[in-house]
Amino acid sequence: MQKSLQGKKILVTGGSRGIGRGIVLAAAGAGADVLTCYRHEGEAVDSLVRELKKSGGDHHVVRADVGRISEVDQLAVTARERFGRLDGVVNNAGVISHIPFGELTVQEWSEVIDTNLTAAYRVIQQTLPLMGAGASVVNIGSRGAAAGIPLRAHYTAAKAAMIGLTRSLARELGPKGIRVNVVAPGVIETEAFDAMPAERAEGLRATYARKTALARLGTVAELAGPVLFLLGDGAGYITGETLNVDGGI
Ligand code: NDP
Repeated sequence: MQKSLQGKKILVTGGSRGIGRGIVLAAAGAGADVLTCYRHEGEAVDSLVRELKKSGGDHHVVRADVGRISEVDQLAVTARERFGRLDGVVNNAGVISHIPFGELTVQEWSEVIDTNLTAAYRVIQQTLPLMGAGASVVNIGSRGAAAGIPLRAHYTAAKAAMIGLTRSLARELGPKGIRVNVVAPGVIETEAFDAMPAERAEGLRATYARKTALARLGTVAELAGPVLFLLGDGAGYITGETLNVDGGI
């Protein structure tokens, strides 16, 4: 049976852990060839490489800090050299911090804006020559951007801006047949939950059991599924959308 992303060439930023890793593995499982990047070496990277080898296909896992313009530009060169074209780009890499607004330094503001927003601008711009009709860009936003979150003004500002970037590019690139959408996660349980004290993890689970219609947190697979849908040809007439994947928060 034909797989949903068979033969497609996909770039996913920040694929070593969390949601990005889930998207990378799901895309590879759906028949895509995947290029992904990370910042820090370690077991997460090594195990991803091992898992991708098992899934078959032409996959590449490279170090590139998307918060640095020169490294984004090199990533686009790598995509061209390895794949020659791209059918999908997922801007997933993101960082967050919790800081009272009065104490938010220029350095912290810039790091969060650079990684969550400026990286998406530069990744899309530099990979544009590789994308043709039928290509799909998915920007990972955040459900919290529309609601606002105390102590995360810098993060929500970046994620809200992602929607404006997406809307404008959907219109600008639409005539070329390139679609651009946002997937806005609610709270997704990644391996970061395993690293936090059990009490805090349970507290978060209980809070979101009350706050969501589905009475639970989301899984990485439940976030990867909608991303794969938007990357695929089945979503061929969807562009400029923000798809909330939040369990009905
Ligand atoms: P994680 O922190 O679990 O994973 C982030 C991944 O991105 C890691 O692989 C990390 O690699 C990589 N990364 C981070 N910064 C950079 C960078 N500058 N250059 C290259 N790679 C980078 O994040 P999540 O999986 O939780 O989040 C993924 C996306 O989803 C983010 O955009 C986030 O804002 C968004 N999101 C997540 C939610 C959630 O509940 N998890 C909710 C709403 C939105 P390394 O370890 O090497 O830095």
